[in-house]
Amino acid sequence: MKIKITKKTILKFFGILLLILVLSVLILFAVVIGRTFTYKENTELEQWQNTTTIYPGLSLEQKKQLLENFKVAVQIPTVSFSESEQNISALQEFDLLLRRVFPKIFSSSLVQHEMVGNYSHLLTVSGSEPDLEPYMLLAHIDVVPADEADGWDAPPFSAQELNGFIYGRGTIDNKQSVMGILQALEYLLERGYTPRRSFYIGLGHDEEISGPQGAVIIVKLLKSRGVKLLYVLDEGLTIVDGVVDGLIGPAALIGVSEKGKATVKLSASTPPGHSSMPPRESSIGILASAVTRLEKNRLPNLFGHGPERATFEHLAHKFGWPYRMVMSNLWLFSSLLSGVLEGQPDTNAFVRTTTAVTMFNSGVKINVMPAYAEAFVDFRIHYSQTLHEEMPVLESDISSYDEDTFGYQIIKKTVHDIFPQVTVSPGICVGNTDSRHYTELSPDIYRFAPSWYKPGDSARFHGVNERISIQNYEEIVLFYFQLMQNSDIRNLPAPRI
Ligand SMILES: [Zn+2]
Repeated sequence: MKIKITKKTILKFFGILLLILVLSVLILFAVVIGRTFTYKENTELEQWQNTTTIYPGLSLEQKKQLLENFKVAVQIPTVSFSESEQNISALQEFDLLLRRVFPKIFSSSLVQHEMVGNYSHLLTVSGSEPDLEPYMLLAHIDVVPADEADGWDAPPFSAQELNGFIYGRGTIDNKQSVMGILQALEYLLERGYTPRRSFYIGLGHDEEISGPQGAVIIVKLLKSRGVKLLYVLDEGLTIVDGVVDGLIGPAALIGVSEKGKATVKLSASTPPGHSSMPPRESSIGILASAVTRLEKNRLPNLFGHGPERATFEHLAHKFGWPYRMVMSNLWLFSSLLSGVLEGQPDTNAFVRTTTAVTMFNSGVKINVMPAYAEAFVDFRIHYSQTLHEEMPVLESDISSYDEDTFGYQIIKKTVHDIFPQVTVSPGICVGNTDSRHYTELSPDIYRFAPSWYKPGDSARFHGVNERISIQNYEEIVLFYFQLMQNSDIRNLPAPRI
């Protein structure tokens, strides 16, 4: 049989093709728009069992007292200068301060207090139901150096009050948590609170120099006692307000992972000689071309492999147009977004293991061929990778954040209790915290403290004019006050269907 191809059949064929094409575009458009207006990643839980026996509130007297305590804490210069130099007398003074201003904690039969590595504190608070798995709160006492001459509006260890803010090194990193956690526990104990669930408080004294005597030893100690933790909450992310392009309203980002770190040393050796008769290749040249290759070949963009995708999906409904359309439809726009993210150094850090060549040393004299050249490369490992034999491989170390994860849901509920206007989303930490030492004790480690971050505030972190508003510090005390009570729940409510 012969099929006769006429002009008419061709036209008919293309007509149908065009119709299919138009229909597909329309359907695609409808799906994209539909999702833009209906997409919501947050799962709601059923009714919570009430564990708040003591209402989170502060009297005027308490507000005065907690501020006074906090100011003295900021005034003690607990500086970690370098790996080998810390302000020891300040750390001793800090210990005395804690004993003086938190008399209930240090005298309660419910609280066991231990000094670890000389200046770190480990508190064990015994719950009435020992079968419930304990959790742990972390914070650190030490701070990075600060110099008034860098342009501080108030001296960095003055804790001076300016326009409703307390200025000083450590006000947001991390004495607000150290004092906030203990102040909350002190007030709960004063009111006769007995926790149901046991918990630990770990206050490191050397976090800014990687925690070898503080967090590392505390973890060893807990491990030797066979402790397993339901969840760990440390510093890290914050409540961001007006600092994410397109995001409307404040969002609490709960850090569910942090970037790893690896330093690689590269070196090249060649026979030394006089520079008047140079060989074709010098050790500097060999190493320089290796470094160039490293910089040219970035490690792969892993957007979608880590929780950064979940962050956008959780916050999608809080973004303005056209961000909202993109975030609600990552099935379609994922590569567009990941391309935008890798365009800027600060957002590029979220999507890949970054490669930074930070040191290059070689040569001794102008007319001598260098026998040796070395370079150091600082890799920051993406959340979805771990380090195997100095090469990052895909294998994630991410705490879960779904509807049946106790720690995440308790933190989320506590944020909503104290800050009803704030959206909660999983997030990722680019920096490192003491919590990375705790991975053997718990699969669920979160990095968050409810400090408000507004435009310009990120420069205060380890920078000039570090400060916290008085109101924010009060909120932080209430947050921990409520968190300890919320953690007493035996089981999470079921997800709402
Ligand atoms: Zn810190």
